[in-house]
Amino acid sequence: MLQGKTAIVTGASRGIGRATAIELGRNGANVVVNYAGSQERAEQVVAEIKAFGVDALAVQADVANAEQVQAMVKETIDAFGRVDILVNNAGITKDNLIMRMKEDEWDAVINTNLKGVFNCGKAVTRQMMKQRYGRIINVASVVGVLGNAGQANYVAAKAGVIGLTKTMARELANRNIHVNAVAPGFIETDMTDELGEDMKGQLLSQIPLATLGKPENIANVIRFLASTDADYMTGQTLHVDGGMVM
Ligand code: NAD
Repeated sequence: MLQGKTAIVTGASRGIGRATAIELGRNGANVVVNYAGSQERAEQVVAEIKAFGVDALAVQADVANAEQVQAMVKETIDAFGRVDILVNNAGITKDNLIMRMKEDEWDAVINTNLKGVFNCGKAVTRQMMKQRYGRIINVASVVGVLGNAGQANYVAAKAGVIGLTKTMARELANRNIHVNAVAPGFIETDMTDELGEDMKGQLLSQIPLATLGKPENIANVIRFLASTDADYMTGQTLHVDGGMVM
């Protein structure tokens, strides 16, 4: 399905990013596994992808740092000659009530979750325009639509990602670069592991399908958006959330 394509997946050493990198590799893409922290985990993902007979490369870059992102894109083009798919997945949380939220908690989440999407999107644009081909998929969140007490920084960033997706889609449409977003509900990853059992129970009561999602549920929809099956879609945000937002 994605044979001959090159994908960059940010924050791909674990969770949704890892599942996405593996899913794109399973479908024939060569994959750059971006990571900020553990090289070992990123290399494990690279090995899993290479087992499908495609190529993969672990590249360290902090998505909040424009220079590091540009270097990552250059390394990708040097290695594979092109960038067809960018999945902006990297994200963090630093939750607090607004009255207690420190400026550095606000800045860190906005810089990674929103500016990171801008940095990576900007860095691949020139190459994708040259190719007259690109598929960018941004990972937002249902809370970017619904709001969530205690997550002002995260919600503002994710709502921003949804708006940025629409603007990038409009700016880049005439170069055959499609930009869509996926808004996960609550997915079982290290990020949601920190929630207590009480909170998980409360969340389940808001999910019509009555179960938390798995990283693969998100990866499958990202693979769809990266494929020719989604060729007539741009600027959309797909909620993959067990029915939370409807
Ligand atoms: P996770 O914490 O398991 O993975 C996040 C990944 O991003 C990690 O590998 C981390 O190292 C990486 N990362 C963090 N900061 C980075 C940076 N500055 N540069 C590069 N990489 C960085 O979380 P996850 O649940 O897999 O989340 C993935 C994405 O999905 C995030 O954008 C998150 O906001 C979003 N999301 C998750 C859920 C959920 O329920 N898990 C729900 C909605 C949205």
